Amino acid sequence: MAETARNEGHIVMAPFLAHGHLIPFLALARQIQERTSFTITIATTPLNIQHLRSAISSNNIRLAELTFNSTQHGLPPNIENTEKLPLTDIIKIFHASLNLEAPLRSLISQITQEEGHPPLCIISDVFLGWVTNVAKSLGTKNITFTTCGGYGTLAYISIWSHLPHRKTDSDEFWVPGFPESYRFHRTQLHRYLRAADGSDSWSRFFTPQIELSARSDGWICNTVEEIEPLGLQLLRKYLQLPVWTVGPLLPPATLKGSKHRAGKEPGIALEACIEWLDSKDESSVLYISFGSQNTISASQMMALAEGLEQSGKQFIWVIRPPFGFDLNGEFRAEWLPDGFEERMRLSKQGLLVHKWGPQLEILSHRSTGAFLSHCGWNSVLESLSNGVPIIGWPLAAEQGYNAKMLVEEMGVCVELTRNMESVISGEMVKKVIEIVMDQEGKGKEMKEKANKIAVHMREATTEKGEEKGSSVRAIDDFVRTILESKAT
Ligand code: UDP
Repeated sequence: MAETARNEGHIVMAPFLAHGHLIPFLALARQIQERTSFTITIATTPLNIQHLRSAISSNNIRLAELTFNSTQHGLPPNIENTEKLPLTDIIKIFHASLNLEAPLRSLISQITQEEGHPPLCIISDVFLGWVTNVAKSLGTKNITFTTCGGYGTLAYISIWSHLPHRKTDSDEFWVPGFPESYRFHRTQLHRYLRAADGSDSWSRFFTPQIELSARSDGWICNTVEEIEPLGLQLLRKYLQLPVWTVGPLLPPATLKGSKHRAGKEPGIALEACIEWLDSKDESSVLYISFGSQNTISASQMMALAEGLEQSGKQFIWVIRPPFGFDLNGEFRAEWLPDGFEERMRLSKQGLLVHKWGPQLEILSHRSTGAFLSHCGWNSVLESLSNGVPIIGWPLAAEQGYNAKMLVEEMGVCVELTRNMESVISGEMVKKVIEIVMDQEGKGKEMKEKANKIAVHMREATTEKGEEKGSSVRAIDDFVRTILESKAT
């Protein structure tokens, strides 16, 4: 345990209401706790608390309920997480999250009363910018936690703050904070952002919340200093704040395979999945998944299946109904080529896993050679920490910017397509798979680069006596900084 272990203090955390945010917050809480004797309280809504409770083994992480009644905020009953909402309704939960301010204020006041002083700081989600005002008025600090990488975070916050694509007719545009020569493309933006003009409900939420977060006392970023030096240098310059890189925050190995990790029941028994992978050659399997809440269009799904079959490569595909249908509903055979699932099963070319797969176990298996991914940041970290190169298909959020960095800065990704609106063919799919899974040429190069990144990630979180990796040093520095600011 670090030198900070004897210090006492209390940190309150306020994540956004989405699994992809709750899980890294929990991982961050564990990291801080391993190195201090701080009390950590994660404050969120009752159903998300239930969810976290099943994933918490340490007694020292406390959970505090913030009152939230979804029906009072235009949401269906018992909806406290983006997970069960269709894309068209997701913005409602963002606006609804503003109502967490009053219960969070009460919680901080209560802690202050009980302990005789305010908590050391509130670590809040980049989407909960209003916490900055809560912290200032209640005598504590606010640290913003971005669950994304440095590059993706900068592009995301800068585009929402400046809407640079609205200032040009061209498809390509410059994003403030990036070098003048860098160009982003309209297709890298989610369609709600493409249409945003400052007066729509997306801009009315994101622009002010991001600006408030930019006025907090510092940022914590779920990334590794050595893997994206450019993105981090630019992010620090843009924010003019300390940015601590504490990643990769991955679920602990002990929780691997547990449905409790994300509270989901995998569509296949873990053992069956591993047995299938065990029967394959090293780096011969393509893993396909679009994250926890995305899917592709029906025509894209058909083309992807055709391309996979044509490529002859082995694959595991976590599959959900296409866009426009209930993601948790029954899967219909008509969404795939005639007899596809049966052919893949008999030939053992492909394994279709419905709804949810044991992603970490698949990515860390030696047979997995590439990942066709929507480039959500957790998926990126999980893939690269296992040295697995990526076929990019960004769909939403900051995924398009992540893919740009993976291609241009890291050289570990080839983009297949973007968004749900694009038209793709089986031929395109086959071609990209062949490039990335090639054991020679570009595929080999990408694999080597991904392996180097995996080494950086491992080293960043390693501590051997006095020798500490960059992420360990960043947590120590963050702890020292908040303790010093308490003393002044
Ligand atoms: N995940 C999983 N099985 C699935 C789909 C997703 O375990 O079938 C996990 C994945 O390992 C990752 C998270 O869900 O930890 C997805 O996070 P990411 O940031 O990649 O994407 P998001 O879901 O936020 O779009």
